[in-house]
Amino acid sequence: MSVFSDYKKEIMHAAHDERIRLALWRAIKSYRANTNNALKKFPHTIKLAEEVRKIKEKAIDKMEKLVLQASEAIEENNGKAYIARTAADALNIIDEIVGTGKLIVKGKSMTGEEIGLREHLEEHGNEVYETDLGEFIIQKLGSRPMHILSPAIHVPKEDVARLFSQITGQVLPADDIALLVKTARNLLREKFFQADIGISGANVVAAESGTLFIIENEGNIRLATAAPPVHIALVGMEKLVPTLGDAYKVAEVTWRYGNYPIPSYVSLVSGPSKTGDIEKVTTFGVHGPGEFHVVFLDAGRTKLAKHPILRQALYCLRCGGCLYECPVFAVTAGHFGDKYFAGIGAVWAAMMQDDEEKAAALAYTCLTCGRCKIRCPVKIDTPEMVIALRRLIVEGS
Ligand code: SF4
Repeated sequence: MSVFSDYKKEIMHAAHDERIRLALWRAIKSYRANTNNALKKFPHTIKLAEEVRKIKEKAIDKMEKLVLQASEAIEENNGKAYIARTAADALNIIDEIVGTGKLIVKGKSMTGEEIGLREHLEEHGNEVYETDLGEFIIQKLGSRPMHILSPAIHVPKEDVARLFSQITGQVLPADDIALLVKTARNLLREKFFQADIGISGANVVAAESGTLFIIENEGNIRLATAAPPVHIALVGMEKLVPTLGDAYKVAEVTWRYGNYPIPSYVSLVSGPSKTGDIEKVTTFGVHGPGEFHVVFLDAGRTKLAKHPILRQALYCLRCGGCLYECPVFAVTAGHFGDKYFAGIGAVWAAMMQDDEEKAAALAYTCLTCGRCKIRCPVKIDTPEMVIALRRLIVEGS
């Protein structure tokens, strides 16, 4: 079967799945209410988003310079920085650090998803726990994420209750969401402290100081990046901006359009844990990790930056807002996508995954209706990109 016929079967099946429609309907309603409230409470965000677009435009122009600057800063902070030109390079670098037979706790990372990191580490004899609740559900279901920020968006509470009941051997009621959350906490709690390695992504990185900004609500990232003795961060090169001030602005716009007036936690990580409290001898690995490794991933990003229209995909903050507006996504969830979703996902499939067939299927599913552009904080013109991509696919120019 071809990629196209597989995709057609999958998306038609999804479109007739009442459970996806129900879960998405609930999520879209609450996203719109939450975001509208957040923007009402912090109205400066709309102007700030315009500034962020300009920051991203300039940063993408000098991605190569920023990655070198950030790498230097991380090394100065006693961390280790790596530049991976391909997904395979990134996996090799991480293999060298991890080895085999390790217990790994992992935070949600679309970049990790892009290179198939968890599956790869498992194949190499490691035990990996996704610690974001949505990702944990997806991992246990043997499914794949269906949204950038809410990977289990398509899974109704009834399915979560059934899954957790199977894992724990107790009957858990679907209506008691607090109990389901507590169950996940209990299942994962000790893993954070037993783990050899914690893996995270980053929402934005300040090149001048090598500081990673990681936004979250659950507290799992704090634990995964602080409790194990080693922290590895995998970061797409498009996440780099010049200064700490720029990074803060990007982070604020990201969380505001990502469904929250203010997230519970923003972690700023620039190096390993250290102390000089005993006779001023610098010693690494006090309560936090003694090793800090940052792998910057190119994998098509520098090539994409050269395309006059498609480069907009690199401005994406991964707030997920566009997905809640997309009429196709509303009935199919992440089945309208590959590693990334909806119209912008077509660009990523073409340029990052080099999967022209999948990209074509996604590009021709997009209605180019433009609702995503209205919601997008940085006004990424996805219809324009999709039309350019179709031309690229058909004419090869
Ligand atoms: S395209 Fe825009 S709305 Fe969609 S995830 Fe990226 S920044 Fe958010």
